[in-house]
Amino acid sequence: MLLLGSHVGFKKNTQLLGSVEEALNNGANTFMFYTGAPQNTSRYPISDELTSQAVLTWKENGFDYSKVIVHAPYIINLASDKDLDKFMFSVHFLQEELKRCELLGIQYLVLHPGNHVGIGVEAGISNIARGLNMILGTCQVTLLLETMAGKGTEVGSSLEEIKKIIDLVDDKKHIGVCLDTCHLNDAGYDMKDFDSFLNRFDSLIGLDKIGCVHVNDSKNILGAHKDRHENIGFGTIGFDSLLAIIYHEKLEKVPKILETPYVDRQFCPYKFEIEMIKNKKFDFSLIEKIKKQV
Ligand code: FE
Ligand code: FE
Ligand code: ZN
Repeated sequence: MLLLGSHVGFKKNTQLLGSVEEALNNGANTFMFYTGAPQNTSRYPISDELTSQAVLTWKENGFDYSKVIVHAPYIINLASDKDLDKFMFSVHFLQEELKRCELLGIQYLVLHPGNHVGIGVEAGISNIARGLNMILGTCQVTLLLETMAGKGTEVGSSLEEIKKIIDLVDDKKHIGVCLDTCHLNDAGYDMKDFDSFLNRFDSLIGLDKIGCVHVNDSKNILGAHKDRHENIGFGTIGFDSLLAIIYHEKLEKVPKILETPYVDRQFCPYKFEIEMIKNKKFDFSLIEKIKKQV
């Protein structure tokens, strides 16, 4: 069965229960959230009561909680050790994030590998692995390294870089990959020829390592190294190519998560995009419908 959902909120007063309700309202059967603001480190305590209520509600709807995803905050940067305090801060904050995942019963945490900020890709890769080795091996959560667009000094914009990190990680059981279609396009991988990409991935890393797919269209051309997401079917990857990825038989058990932009920065697109994907037919008037929210 297709596992399809989107990024949803996680608010102070409703926490996971609010996330579950948002996902159900979108017609999703999986979802992803940040445990707090992605750009800062303030985190409130997890309410066990809200968590168990949320998981119960989710299961009562017949859905699988085991593949719900948390996204680590993007202030974490394991790739640079130029400032050792900052590096150690990232390590500790990621460790805290893993603990929160365990409290929430979450098994998959998506992480951006990081920015090497000038020290070079190879040094970046070894820092990331060093950081991960300080953390993994003690918990049951699997870390999924996200494929990046290659903007600025981002590490992880090629499969070879991702593979090198994985090779250096000791706890192989708890390391995997999150594919992001917009990032892959912007990094230069043609999503219109997804089978070739998957074959390449399989021979280099292994398909069993794919734990999540972020399904996003892109505002930019192949290889632009930009990272600007577009609504499904309205970008350079296009509806048919994204649909082929979403329904790919080799990725059937992998959750697909939309991270497409809010229209005019205020209208949530997910309910509409999920419906369009389920219908398997592109709707040219989708943006208008999103703006009207009907
Ligand atoms: Fe991400
Ligand atoms: Fe992503
Ligand atoms: Zn992105």
